[in-house]
Amino acid sequence: MVRVTEIFRSIQGESTHAGRPCTFVRLTGCPMRCVWCDSEYTFTGGEHVPLEEVLRQVREYGCNLVEVTGGEPLAQKPAFELIERLCTEGYEVLIETGGYVSTANVDPRAKIILDVKCPASGEESRNDWSNLKRLRPDKDEVKFVVADINDWEYAKKVIDEYDLTKSTNAILISPAWGQMDLKELAEQVAGSGLPVRMQLQLHKYIWGPDVHGV
Ligand code: SF4
Repeated sequence: MVRVTEIFRSIQGESTHAGRPCTFVRLTGCPMRCVWCDSEYTFTGGEHVPLEEVLRQVREYGCNLVEVTGGEPLAQKPAFELIERLCTEGYEVLIETGGYVSTANVDPRAKIILDVKCPASGEESRNDWSNLKRLRPDKDEVKFVVADINDWEYAKKVIDEYDLTKSTNAILISPAWGQMDLKELAEQVAGSGLPVRMQLQLHKYIWGPDVHGV
């Protein structure tokens, strides 16, 4: 069983996969409390659903791309088996993780999108830095949600320290919704000379910031 907040089909809103049709399995619960969290509705509630039922619903949506997200999906032990079974069924599986739980036991066929929490999140001290050393340049992505210029400076420092331009498929710079001036961040990114990618959360521009299940 996994505790599930919602399963739905939409388009991928973030990462290099943005715009692709995707089935989302959003698991309930997260041990972190990022100040700007946009998924607080996943902290409580949810339904305990057998893995077989999750797989059945995913099959019904008929998308080749499946994202397991949360909350923090890796905080639930059975999530690891769910990921393995999705991979075995031949789906391209993305894992969106907040960076606190170790990714060591994630099925290697899945692609990791790993958050590094910046200072303005209030959760910087909980980053599991060993996750950065496990990133694979052919498939994994790392994401910095940036709420102010200090966060951007922090991201640059981490990129340099962990040589992320070589160890990841993409470095995503994502402005915290409603907090970071987009033009200011775009200018910073453009002038940085770094092989990073500024991204906006497509789904929020399409459906609005507070709509769930899209
Ligand atoms: S890790 Fe993600 S779900 Fe958890 S508090 Fe932070 S932003 Fe919200």
